[in-house]
Amino acid sequence: MKRDSYQRKCALVTGSTRGIGQAIAMELAKEGINIAVNGRGTLDTATQTLDMCRKEGVDAHYFQADISDTASRENLVREIKERFRRIDILVNNAGVAPIERKDILETTERSFDRVIAINLKGAFFLTQIVAKWMIEQKEKFPDREFVIVNISSVSSYAVSINRPEYCISKAGISMMTKLFAIKLATWDIKVYEVRPGIILTDMTQPVKEKYDKMLKEGIFPIKRWGTPEDVGKAVVALVKGFYPYSTGDIINVDGGFHIRRL
Ligand code: NAD
Repeated sequence: MKRDSYQRKCALVTGSTRGIGQAIAMELAKEGINIAVNGRGTLDTATQTLDMCRKEGVDAHYFQADISDTASRENLVREIKERFRRIDILVNNAGVAPIERKDILETTERSFDRVIAINLKGAFFLTQIVAKWMIEQKEKFPDREFVIVNISSVSSYAVSINRPEYCISKAGISMMTKLFAIKLATWDIKVYEVRPGIILTDMTQPVKEKYDKMLKEGIFPIKRWGTPEDVGKAVVALVKGFYPYSTGDIINVDGGFHIRRL
C-alpha cells in the first residue's frame, strides 16, 4: 500500500459485496475514503465492489469474515489493523432475512438463532471491538472524527408477523445504537442509525410482487422503491461531519413510510 494511503480515512462496511452495503462502500469511496469490504463469500464475490471503489482512486481490500463468528470478527479487525492501520468509520450493514418466512406461532429456534446471530449479536460484538480501537485512536489523534452507522430497518418498529426474528433483530439494533451513542459520547465518537424502508436488492427479490402491490396502494408516500444509493448517500451525509453536535439519531430512508396518517 502506498504510504500516503494511511492519510486517508478508512471505513469498514460489513456485507458490502452487494446490495445496500456495496452502494454505501461506493458512496464513501467517492468521498476519498479507503474501504474495507467485507462479506462471507470468497474473493470473487467482492470483485465488483472492489473495482467500483478502486475506480474512485481509493484503496479497497476484501476481508472475508462471518460476522456472526467470534474468531472471524477478531481476525477481521486484526487484518484491517495490518492493512490500513486505522478505522474511522464502521457501517454495520451485513444482515439476513429468515430463509423462510413463517408465522410467529411457527418460528423455529434455528431460524431465530441464525438471524439474531448475524443481524444483532454479530453487529454488537463487532462494534465492541471496533469501538475500543476507535477510543485508542481518538486518544492518540484527538482531531480525528469517528463515526459508527448501524443499518436497521423500518422493521425495528413495524410488525411483520411472518418474520418476527428479523423484526426483533432490527429493534435490537435500534437500542444498540442508543447504548453505544451514550458510551462513546465521552470520546466524541458519533453513533447513528439509518432506517431503510423497502430497497430493491437481492434480499427483497423474493417479495418484490408483494411490495410492488403495496407501492401501488400508496403505503409509501414517495411512490417508488428505495435504491441502495439512497441509503449510501444518507450514510455519507452522516460521516461527513455535518452533524457535529448530534449522536444516537435515526435517519429514515423510507420514502416517508414512518409518518403516521389518519
Ligand atoms: P443483501 O442480501 O443484498 O446483502 C447482504 C450482505 O450481507 C451481503 O454482502 C452478504 O454477503 C452479507 N452477509 C450476510 N451474512 C453475513 C455474515 N454472517 N457475515 C458477513 N457478511 C454477511 O441485503 P441488502 O438488502 O443489501 O441488506 C443490507 C442490510 O440492509 C441488511 O442489514 C438488511 O437487513 C438491511 N435492510 C434491507 C432492506 C431492503 O429492503 N433490502 C430494508 C431495510 C433494511
